[in-house]
Amino acid sequence: MIDTHCHVDFKEYNKNREEVMERAKKKLTAIINSGASLGGNRRTLKLQDEYKGFLYSTLGFHPSNASKADSTIIKQVLEEIDTNIEKTVGIGETGLDFYEVKESDKRKRQLKIFDIFIELSNEYDLPLVLHARDAEAKCLEIVKKKSNIYDVIFHCYGGDVETAKQIVEEGYSISFSTLACFSEHHQELIEHVPISNILTETDSPYLSPFKGKRNEPAFVEETVKIIAEKKSLTPRAVGKQTERNARKIFKI
Ligand SMILES: [Zn+2]
Repeated sequence: MIDTHCHVDFKEYNKNREEVMERAKKKLTAIINSGASLGGNRRTLKLQDEYKGFLYSTLGFHPSNASKADSTIIKQVLEEIDTNIEKTVGIGETGLDFYEVKESDKRKRQLKIFDIFIELSNEYDLPLVLHARDAEAKCLEIVKKKSNIYDVIFHCYGGDVETAKQIVEEGYSISFSTLACFSEHHQELIEHVPISNILTETDSPYLSPFKGKRNEPAFVEETVKIIAEKKSLTPRAVGKQTERNARKIFKI
């Protein structure tokens, strides 16, 4: 099994990151840490050095950060991604969050920065990791138009069934998180997405499958179990297939 999207660089793990990583290593074959800010990208690269061959990184800038970031920060983020491009397995997270951001000027800013990251993924032929919230169809419309690559991942997808079907039709992937363990909507989505287009993730430290507990990569097992249940497959088969999907996309 692979956790294709987590944030173990966050301060929530400062007290016992090593233990969290040990538990992850026991259950999983790899994890992909997603850089969400300038500092986040730096920390992610550092962790990748520390956990070589187990922790991989995607570098990006979260859309909620994008809506308020000035151009100096963006410039710095892009320069650092350029410098470290050989070390990253994907571009993101990037995308649109219209749930958190309602003002039209801030949304415009998100759209502009999203464009820059799509271009980056095109230029380096790297998978594009999307954060799309209340903007799933819009994100799909944009990547269909602007992305030259097939490896587009809708991370933690929670949009409607119709858009999910269109995402699959394009050959893109949908990543289900531990949220699926307690959300009926996500469980319904799982039924509509073929296993060949599914990835698994936790989005740790968020979305824990266990009430009141901080999430961590090892808990991706719970996502695998729920997919297995919905698809009438064994957890082992789901783990294997989703790991294969992830390895193919991220070339790890
Ligand atoms: Zn994330």
